[in-house]
Amino acid sequence: MTAGMAGYIAKNKLMPKPEWQVNATAKPDAANPFRIVYSKTPAGGRKPHPMIEKRFPLVLMLEPLHACNLTCTGCGRIREYDTTINKRLTLDQCLQASDECGAPIVSICGGEPLLYPEIGQLQAELLRRGRSIYLCTNGMFVKKKLSQFQPHDRFFFNVHLDGMEKTHDIAVEKEGVFREAIEGIRAAKAAGFKVCTNTTVYQETDMKEIEDLFEYLEQFDLDGHMMSPAYGYAAVNDRDIFLTRDDVREKFKNVEHLSKRFKVNSTPTYLDFLRGERDLPCTAWGNPTYNVMGWKGPCYLITDGHYPTFEGLMTETQWKNYGHGNDPRCDHCMVHCGYEPSAALGINSKFMDTFKLMSWAFR
Ligand code: SF4
Ligand code: SF4
Repeated sequence: MTAGMAGYIAKNKLMPKPEWQVNATAKPDAANPFRIVYSKTPAGGRKPHPMIEKRFPLVLMLEPLHACNLTCTGCGRIREYDTTINKRLTLDQCLQASDECGAPIVSICGGEPLLYPEIGQLQAELLRRGRSIYLCTNGMFVKKKLSQFQPHDRFFFNVHLDGMEKTHDIAVEKEGVFREAIEGIRAAKAAGFKVCTNTTVYQETDMKEIEDLFEYLEQFDLDGHMMSPAYGYAAVNDRDIFLTRDDVREKFKNVEHLSKRFKVNSTPTYLDFLRGERDLPCTAWGNPTYNVMGWKGPCYLITDGHYPTFEGLMTETQWKNYGHGNDPRCDHCMVHCGYEPSAALGINSKFMDTFKLMSWAFR
């Protein structure tokens, strides 16, 4: 999968689709120009990093529906889309979105995607198209729905766990969720599926507890752990649980210890970014989101519009107006969907990055 993604990136770096690179004329009241990523010219001047103008998607965030059986404190989806919570994409719309966008990885999220009636067919059809799939779930229906899926090297259940039992059940506002998610993980691994976990780090998160969680999960021989700092965007109610950039760096300052001990799926470059070791620009176009309203722009988190086509999202969004320093709403955002693409694309890369990336991929 990593080799496939590396090939896809190399091909698109050389020849990105020209129809996705078009910049609409900035509105007169548009915010600052993009100002983070520069590379040095031989004359010692600075020019924007060339990758910034080569846009292409790496991961499609596909939301077939927004309905969910839970009401987690930090969830913006069930709040932002409450008026369309009963709507869902058809199977054809899901597949057309994947074809239109062409990203090699599809993250099926929501809402709770295991509530989507055609979820088994969606998995089969995306696999047939050569996509790798992360199915992001709260884990409560994994055991019940397992028979709808086929184990495959390119298919992962990605189970959301924000801490050990007590902490997780408080975060998802329901007792017993942790235990059911663990039962789902156990059943999926026993049936030969690949399973990883996804942890959001909040203001209240004790990083020692995350280490305890990964240690506890070792018994299941999981296929990796993802971590991302929480971000307090407009659709979320409780703003006090979110992190500033300084908070994120403090929380993640010892993340290297975790990544040496456990299979952490986040790239080493992104982890460096989280602990303040380097800067990265936002490249939200690398992780576009599609849902019942259309292509959500600019990113998974903030919504300034929905576009009917993927080309519309790529060419009409004023990308230069987003990211840290360009839009106040982005100031404390360090989430993976905005910054992991920059890491994968090698923007602001350092001398040892390729070596670090290769050893991470082999591990
Ligand atoms: S399980 Fe996911 S979609 Fe459901 S409420 Fe929690 S965060 Fe939102
Ligand atoms: S920094 Fe990027 S990913 Fe984060 S909120 Fe802004 S546009 Fe979205």
